[in-house]
Amino acid sequence: MHGATEVPLKEQIKTKANEIFDEVVELRRDIHRHPELAFEEKRTSQLAANYLRELGYEVTQGVAKTGVVADLKGGKATATSKTIAFRADMDALPMNEENSHNFCSTKPNVMHACGHDAHTAMMLGAAKILASLQAELPGSIKFIFQPSEECAPGGAKLMLESGLFADKIPDAIFGQHCMPQVPVGKIGFLSGAMMAAADELYINVFGKGGHASAPHRANDPILAAVQIVNSLQTIVSRNFPPHEPAVLTIAAINGGSATNIIPNEVKMKGTYRTMNEEWREIGHQRIEEIVHATAKAMGVRAEIEIRKGYPAVVNDKNMTEFAIDLSREYLGEANTITPEPMMAAEDFAYFLQACKGAYWMLGVGNEEKGIVHNIHSTHFDIDEEALRIGTGFVSYLAMNFLSK
Ligand SMILES: [Zn+2]
Ligand SMILES: [Zn+2]
Repeated sequence: MHGATEVPLKEQIKTKANEIFDEVVELRRDIHRHPELAFEEKRTSQLAANYLRELGYEVTQGVAKTGVVADLKGGKATATSKTIAFRADMDALPMNEENSHNFCSTKPNVMHACGHDAHTAMMLGAAKILASLQAELPGSIKFIFQPSEECAPGGAKLMLESGLFADKIPDAIFGQHCMPQVPVGKIGFLSGAMMAAADELYINVFGKGGHASAPHRANDPILAAVQIVNSLQTIVSRNFPPHEPAVLTIAAINGGSATNIIPNEVKMKGTYRTMNEEWREIGHQRIEEIVHATAKAMGVRAEIEIRKGYPAVVNDKNMTEFAIDLSREYLGEANTITPEPMMAAEDFAYFLQACKGAYWMLGVGNEEKGIVHNIHSTHFDIDEEALRIGTGFVSYLAMNFLSK
């Protein structure tokens, strides 16, 4: 036998992640059984607060209604040492679960179909691992448990507005999202724009109704609406550079009631999604111009409302590369992948505007086990092996970030 050698950090963390794996699974299942909608996460946030206090974190509750913030100062922290922040979202969705496992939602029409139960459980697990290493921590840890990711204006913005980073902006912030398209065991990282800014469009077209047999005595808002829908499609195809991702979808058209009546009015709804603020603004201008000019040309009047949603999720290049390097160490080269960008939106974007950081896609899919359903599906589920990875990797990242 050689003398006692120090166990490498990676092995230490992996052992700790294995030791608390069952507990993290139970936390996730407990939260899954008791899902709560946006800004109603009372039970979930109380559970998190109790758990974190028990571990020795300094806990603040009621940040942006149901948000929880937990701070831990490392035993080796100094006045100049770094702070790393992690965020988990806690809210569920208004839908009925159609899974058959034994920890299904106990609430009708509320379901954790976006994995926020797992996000919360993994951050609690990581908080426990890091608390066990508190004496050696050369910096501070901040865990942010956020309400309402699914409902605009979202909990992230409200937490920031209520002074989340008023005392100190963390040196970095990271977050993760369960992704069934990524196989369990892998994590996907993307530098730069990863998810889209999503804005809602509401367009009302006002014409002059009349008998369908006499269109010359009416101003047909249906034909005008159709022209507007067609013309709007030129924004992405004719105004945007081909390499700039954007989507414009008119998803609802409502107007009219019978075969022989031209209605007075048509209402439309849609979504406009972009990856950068400049093109977001240009698009808004073009939407206004096209809607009003087309309406005028068709002899009708249009009103348009653009409700701005979350901005794009833009990962910091250095922070992403830092996380990629650590993922290669922790999970291996083959398990560190580059996913395609998504045009879905996520309010982690606001944290990335306030602080350098990165968001990653945690693989939870497993075709062999039939875990293939997308987020927001009534059959959404995760391979719980992912909890071991998410918990351990967050801890490994924190230790490395603070000591480098
Ligand atoms: Zn979601
Ligand atoms: Zn989500």
